[in-house]
Amino acid sequence: MFRNPNVLRIILIVLATAFILPLLLPAFKGCSSNSDNTSTSSSSTTNNSAATPPPLEVKMPDFNGDTAYQYVKKQVDFGPRIMGSAAQKQCAEWLANSLRKVADTVYVQKTTVTNYAKKQYPCYNVIGAFNPKATKRIAIFSHWDSRPRADQDTERTAEAILGADDGGSSTGVALELARILSQQKLQNIGVDIILFDAEDDGTEGNNESYCLGSQHWSRNPHIAGYHADYGILMDMVGAADAIFYKEQYSMQYAPQVVQKVWDAARALGQSSLFSDNIGGGITDDHVFVNTIAHIPTIDIINFQPDRTGFPTHWHTHKDDMKVISPITLDNVGSVIARVLYQEDAMSVAQ
Ligand SMILES: [Zn+2]
Repeated sequence: MFRNPNVLRIILIVLATAFILPLLLPAFKGCSSNSDNTSTSSSSTTNNSAATPPPLEVKMPDFNGDTAYQYVKKQVDFGPRIMGSAAQKQCAEWLANSLRKVADTVYVQKTTVTNYAKKQYPCYNVIGAFNPKATKRIAIFSHWDSRPRADQDTERTAEAILGADDGGSSTGVALELARILSQQKLQNIGVDIILFDAEDDGTEGNNESYCLGSQHWSRNPHIAGYHADYGILMDMVGAADAIFYKEQYSMQYAPQVVQKVWDAARALGQSSLFSDNIGGGITDDHVFVNTIAHIPTIDIINFQPDRTGFPTHWHTHKDDMKVISPITLDNVGSVIARVLYQEDAMSVAQ
């Protein structure tokens, strides 16, 4: 995935709003509270906390960050999972077999995609369905392929990267979510774990050259007429110093889903990991899921425009197991698990 330069101006405006307005606001607050004979301003903190309902008790199994870490390592041990490689085929089979142990139904969607250089490659989207008869559904998305070149590195730029964080981490979290979904069955809703291939062979300035697996799936879902109420995409969710800002396309297409996930993070004490800052507009699988499949979908992604942007290991050979933290995996997975089990508890079977 990459940052869309077209939204740079929007980012700057949003950043200006995010950083300059808070500097101005105390002055306005001071003025209004002086002219106000009520205690609105001074008691606003109390009012806000009183208005926020206490977090709902949600019974859910423990998401294990160490197990998720092992799922990331297993993928990385195959080597770079690039299109046309033996590692791609082996990893696709391992993903499908892993899901077969826990999901109700597993689909392997094999197709051929054409990349930016007009070369054709096999592409495997792997899907695990839980509670397949439920009409209310949530889709959890991740890409599992790794980038065929290290164009952000200073050396061996033509060689494929391991993609421990970029590809491996989100897929590891998705597989651990699948495991806990088999431990405590959903009662009222269904969940689909949807693992896309062929996300990361894109080239600069050509949005459609990225996300080939998700573009194919969005046009040809694994079940004709497939519906999910909403989707949550994860990408680069494993680094020790990760912070997830509110990504701009997520805010544009599915602000209510951003709210749900960030509320769950707050309930679990993860508000520093899930920041209220506005992030970049990232061309990632969720853009195609939103615009082609019309499933309101967000992207949880480690991109911090006011700091380093993407993490420094992004699209380099440093993206290996050394950057992966089981704690980050645990925190992200627990937040998503909470969203799923809370949605299940609040829903009525249909
Ligand atoms: Zn990437």
